[in-house]
Amino acid sequence: MKKLVYLATPSNIEGNKEMKDTLGGKGANLQEMLSLQLRVPPAVTLATETCNMYYEAGRTITPELREEFLGCFTVVESDMDLKFGDIENPLLVSVRSGAKFSMPGMMDTILNVGMNDAIVETVAARTNNARFAWDCYRRLIQMYGNVVHEMKTEEGSPFEAILEEIKQTLCITDDTQLSVENLQELVSLYKTCFRRFTGEDFPQDPYAQLFNCIEAVYRSWNGERAILYRTMESIPHNIGTAVNVQAMVFGNMGDTSMTGVGFTRNSNTGENIFFGEYLTNAQGEDVVAGTRTPIPIQQLKNEMPEVYEELLTTGKKLEDHYSDMMDVEFTVQQTILWWLQCRVGKRTGFAAMQIAIDLVREGKITIEEALLRINAEDHLNQVLKPIFDTEEKKKAKAEKRFVVKALNGSPGAATGQVVFFSDDAVEQKKQGNSVVLLRHDTNPDDFKGMVAAEAVVSGKGGATCHALVVARGKGLIAAAGIETLRIDYKNRTATIGTIVIKEGDWISVDGTSGEIFLGKIKTMPSEIQQVLVTKTMKPEESTTYQNFAIIMEWAKERKTLQVKANADNASEASIALAFGAEGIGLYRTEHTIADDASISSYRKAWLCGDKKMRILYLNEMLEYQTKNLAETLEEMDGMPVLMRTVDSPIHEFFPEHHDEKTLSMMAKLAEELGVSVDEVQARVKSLMPVNSNSAMRGCRITIVYPEILVMQITASAQAVHRCIEKGLNPNLGIMIPNAFDAREIVWHRHQVETIIAKYEQDHGVTIPYHFAAMLENVAFGRTLPETVAKAKCKIFSVGSNDYTSDVLFMSREDANSFIPTYLELGILKADPFVEIHPTVDTMLNDSIGKLMSEDEEVEGGVCGEHGGNPPSIIAFHKMGMKSISCSGFRIPIAILGAAQAAILHPKVK
Ligand code: ADP
Ligand code: MG
Ligand code: MG
Repeated sequence: MKKLVYLATPSNIEGNKEMKDTLGGKGANLQEMLSLQLRVPPAVTLATETCNMYYEAGRTITPELREEFLGCFTVVESDMDLKFGDIENPLLVSVRSGAKFSMPGMMDTILNVGMNDAIVETVAARTNNARFAWDCYRRLIQMYGNVVHEMKTEEGSPFEAILEEIKQTLCITDDTQLSVENLQELVSLYKTCFRRFTGEDFPQDPYAQLFNCIEAVYRSWNGERAILYRTMESIPHNIGTAVNVQAMVFGNMGDTSMTGVGFTRNSNTGENIFFGEYLTNAQGEDVVAGTRTPIPIQQLKNEMPEVYEELLTTGKKLEDHYSDMMDVEFTVQQTILWWLQCRVGKRTGFAAMQIAIDLVREGKITIEEALLRINAEDHLNQVLKPIFDTEEKKKAKAEKRFVVKALNGSPGAATGQVVFFSDDAVEQKKQGNSVVLLRHDTNPDDFKGMVAAEAVVSGKGGATCHALVVARGKGLIAAAGIETLRIDYKNRTATIGTIVIKEGDWISVDGTSGEIFLGKIKTMPSEIQQVLVTKTMKPEESTTYQNFAIIMEWAKERKTLQVKANADNASEASIALAFGAEGIGLYRTEHTIADDASISSYRKAWLCGDKKMRILYLNEMLEYQTKNLAETLEEMDGMPVLMRTVDSPIHEFFPEHHDEKTLSMMAKLAEELGVSVDEVQARVKSLMPVNSNSAMRGCRITIVYPEILVMQITASAQAVHRCIEKGLNPNLGIMIPNAFDAREIVWHRHQVETIIAKYEQDHGVTIPYHFAAMLENVAFGRTLPETVAKAKCKIFSVGSNDYTSDVLFMSREDANSFIPTYLELGILKADPFVEIHPTVDTMLNDSIGKLMSEDEEVEGGVCGEHGGNPPSIIAFHKMGMKSISCSGFRIPIAILGAAQAAILHPKVK
């Protein structure tokens, strides 16, 4: 029979940190801490499989599992020299969720299980601490009610409301000020509340409590917030959670007891100093849930110096063992330190870079490992995010718009309209509005709201409360810990001191400093951008930049993919170069029909209906096209620039709405063309596609209207010519979009050669260029070998958005209406327009991938949005692509992504 229950006691270590699949992260790390001889309360772990078994058995724990569990549980009892449910020597336990991947605060844990009306008296007598005993009991009823019976109302936990009321009547602010009598009264009120809500009495049978809690943990795996979190983090929905049943140690036994959480380094900045918080005379949830504002760990040095010392040394020991920054949870019971959890800690992008570099310098990890530790997407995005403009911030202060300085939760700058409920944040986001979510305390249910909001502000909670931990890991902007914040959820208003904030008011949140302002504040570029692009900062002024530069250098040395940019003019090219681009992988000529004169000429070329006239109008565009390309080639001197001939369907050049501006534009066109406005409108109407995605676009345009190709290729030749005359080294590629058949490319090749040859003859120069085609549909993928043979075309660039549309028969523009549901249901594992879909990957491998492996001269590249998406970059690397191309600001992400791909899959050429 397969083992489903694992012991974790000093003399029964039945696992290790590698066993996360079976034991969940928490359970596996409990085992590892035991092997490192850390003081850990004995525990039993029900394997992750048991979660699925619970559902398969019809939401019940099978008798076999129950028996196996109870067998192990007696070992915990004897280890503690106590008995669960025993009136003389009662053992209390915690029932803790723990999946393979850390889901901070997403699932449920219940403490003090095993307490009842009789046992509370025993505990009071045995510990000679009635206050402690009753405090445990009221906590149990509260957690049990919340978790097992989901006792939550609109306003939150009914127990919290009762507690708040008692505290108000007694005029006390802190739970620790409650007397024994107060706690006894609280227990009685809680029981009444429990009965009213559930129709049952609070269960007095400890085993009933225990098994109900275990089942509730299984159920919390499929709670709304847990599902949403997994969807966001691409965690599979079918792996289940383990359940840890662990002997309690008590942080609420008086002034020499406490509970705390921390990171072995600062998870915000990466600084190598233990970063944590604690609460004296409290139990775990108090710190994690952020309902009481905790004390910085450094203060423990004065209060309990030995414990503090042990905390630091053991923290370092853990860090050395895992060779990474650790996130730890601990409890001190009457000066004895117990370890309850450890895991590799979530961190901001700033900290990720600092820690990775420091660990390399400390000789703990290799550069390759360091590069893999930085999340190319979330972490780099965060450090590249805009910050508030310093001058604007000064102005806001002068205008007395400064509200408060909160704890700097998670860095970045954001402005938005205040909402008080997560659902509102989600709703507003859908409507395209920017909101800031303002909450008293951020409870895990707020996750969806946090993700939808530009920033999150929470009144309660310290620097390590779960909301901020989540925010940092995901690169969300957040601030917390505003003691003076009061929210009136009913009337949708808040006050901070004397300042009143209403729903819909604009506020600005600086997550980097914790400052909050009324109104909007303009942002300015990130420090990295200020050093590289705007040059308003010197490298030596920014640690962030310096760390970034080290990471980029390491990454460039290891990547094999060329990283290019999508850029349409010299200024975009220069930004791309600053960020490390090695060429332009997509230069879209339709974006160079951007000035008023060019647009007007282009429109007339389409409307005039006469080839001779059309050529005249197109010629008006020649100089602009030439100049823009020449400047770009000059900026990129020597590096490849892949210019794509016109691709967009014509409707993109005519406004959709018939407002006054459009009408006057039409009138002007009519006048210039010498026809009536009605005629112009009729002609525009006839040009409008029914299905724009599959209409007159790409190379179809230049086949039907070859004069457009003549103009564009002549402009290209002219641009190259100008560069040559300046003594430069232009490296131009001419790329034909959207073909489905080799013949279209053969046709274009011939035309391009003819036009260039004519130009060369007319001007007595040689125009060097490469010839390329885009791969944007499945049909074309099948004619690639023929294209190579007949069109002498060896460079192919995958337009991965259109290619995805074709393979999945899905229009990107409309995909938002169903993709979120598909993601939730797990039909799609990721948005296929963000991350390359497995089928698309396979199809590409079968066409361009196969061709590249057979013909060394064939060069493949990618220039769709996927070119800047790290998981897709891995796929392209494995496929044998030579280059990827993405927007300038994503270049660093692509560089790190490419390095990670090369480190993870070194054998690929
Ligand atoms: P989460 O996954 O939300 O972090 P945990 O299972 O870690 O939930 O429990 C939250 C907190 O409860 C812990 O940080 C710890 O302080 C407290 N806790 C859990 N189990 C025990 C225990 N056996 N003894 C004392 N405190 C505990
Ligand atoms: Mg925990
Ligand atoms: Mg395309």
